[in-house]
Amino acid sequence: AAKEAGKASWIRFEPQMRQDMVSHARVASELRNAIIRGELRLLYQPVFDLVTGRLHGAEALVRWQHPQRGFVSPAEFIPVAERSGLIVPLGAWVLREACEQLARWRAEHGAGAIEAINVNVAVRQLREAGLVDEVAAVLSETGLTPINLILEVTESSVVDGWQVRETLEQLHDMGVRLALDDFGTGQSSLSLLRAFPVDVLKLDKSFVDGIADGEDRGRLAVAGAVAQLAEHLQLKAVAEGIESQAQMDRLRALGYRYGQGFFMAKPLPADECGALMAADPVRAA
Ligand code: C2E
Ligand code: MG
Ligand code: MG
Ligand code: MG
Repeated sequence: AAKEAGKASWIRFEPQMRQDMVSHARVASELRNAIIRGELRLLYQPVFDLVTGRLHGAEALVRWQHPQRGFVSPAEFIPVAERSGLIVPLGAWVLREACEQLARWRAEHGAGAIEAINVNVAVRQLREAGLVDEVAAVLSETGLTPINLILEVTESSVVDGWQVRETLEQLHDMGVRLALDDFGTGQSSLSLLRAFPVDVLKLDKSFVDGIADGEDRGRLAVAGAVAQLAEHLQLKAVAEGIESQAQMDRLRALGYRYGQGFFMAKPLPADECGALMAADPVRAA
């Protein structure tokens, strides 16, 4: 805000701002140590095929187990990691760890058990020159192919300019799939779909909330329109944040083939996610 206000102007330094800055600096320095000390780990939220009920994929979600403060939510530390640049080493760790886990699952439960892993990528990572090479290196070192990886980016990150666009195009040309995360909450959803090589639309949870109580016509209309858009553009439609049977039924009826949410499964430790694969009666090797 200070920057937007212009160089010649000034802003009042509110006590809350000082507190925010102090806590930002503290979290940033602690996060730096967290990566080194191995305090980060990944949970995996299964993505289900809503028609067959089978496990379809999984999204890697980072967790920080702080030695004193306990569990720190990614909603708190990811923004700090982005602003401080730590998202670059953190994101590199997440990518490698998630790909290694996918390779382990496929070795243990068969390649038919799970095709791809979803990894969230921050805009700061997309601006790094080395991302495309890094993805290629991790895939080859873990014995995976590009089809095994889906990168999740938000709408706001892809409007970031030609450099990001070029990175996304290179990744897509390589065969890595791209998902637009939190879809519907950004500013320019529709034009993005033509300008960027998108493969998957992830309907934001805010449209799923209250979708089944019959009163929220607006959100229902958006959810339906996004499903139709996905169908016409031949994109995969995924609904996130499904918390009830009624929501799941409604989304399936609207055309959502895939979904994830606490109703089906919370983010799980890798072995529990693997147990779901082992329990699938029809999985093929
Ligand atoms: P996201 O990528 O949109 O992930 C979905 C979030 O919704 C996750 O929160 C997940 O636990 C939560 N969720 C899933 N189903 C339900 C549900 O039914 N009900 C409710 N209430 N919540 C549900 P989480 O794990 O706290 O992550 C929050 C956000 O932090 C993510 O949103 C993503 O933007 C970011 N994030 C997490 N891990 C990473 C990462 O490794 N890298 C980057 N860049 N961002 C990450
Ligand atoms: Mg995501
Ligand atoms: Mg999301
Ligand atoms: Mg979200």
